[in-house]
Amino acid sequence: MITIKDKRFDLFITNEQLQEKIDIVANKINKDYKGKRPVLVAILNGAFIFAADLVRRLEFEHEIHFAKFSSYEGMDTTGNVEQLIGLTADIKDRDVIIIEDIVDTGTTMKSVIPQFFEKGARSVEIAVLLMKPGKLEVPLDVKYCAMEIPNEFIVGYGLDYDSLGRNYKDIYVVKE
Ligand code: 5GP
Ligand code: MG
Repeated sequence: MITIKDKRFDLFITNEQLQEKIDIVANKINKDYKGKRPVLVAILNGAFIFAADLVRRLEFEHEIHFAKFSSYEGMDTTGNVEQLIGLTADIKDRDVIIIEDIVDTGTTMKSVIPQFFEKGARSVEIAVLLMKPGKLEVPLDVKYCAMEIPNEFIVGYGLDYDSLGRNYKDIYVVKE
């Protein structure tokens, strides 16, 4: 058990389990992108650890870039997600793979994908570490997902609680 600020969390997914699932999803991506040269865009801050583990398994040539979007809380009801750190890479006519930590309601990804098409991307797919299918509110086609989890708040392995806890190797779930 760990404590972050006012909340206690129990061990939920070990780093070893995560690595096994990342192996599987990386194999799938390696098959699909063999001979291609996609642009990977990791979404800050949460995806930085997953992105580091994922790209080291990729066997095709690729670039990796980073972008940051306004969070969940700061979002209006229209689902517009503001770009905070812009994508500097030229993605015109490129195949893009977005690397994200977790898809919850799906609102963030739903709003971000058209922004990549507006910049001329030829294709856009999502590679996500975790999904909470029970909370998905918008139709979203997630091609690569390492693990599905129930509707619970988690931290660790890049994911934070109030900006803390990203450094834990394993993933923890909040205690009731
Ligand atoms: P969505 O737009 O899909 O509802 O939310 C996605 C974002 O919400 C993720 O990128 C992540 O930043 C945050 N989020 C969703 N669920 C969790 C969770 O269980 N733990 C943490 N730390 N962040 C979460
Ligand atoms: Mg995020």
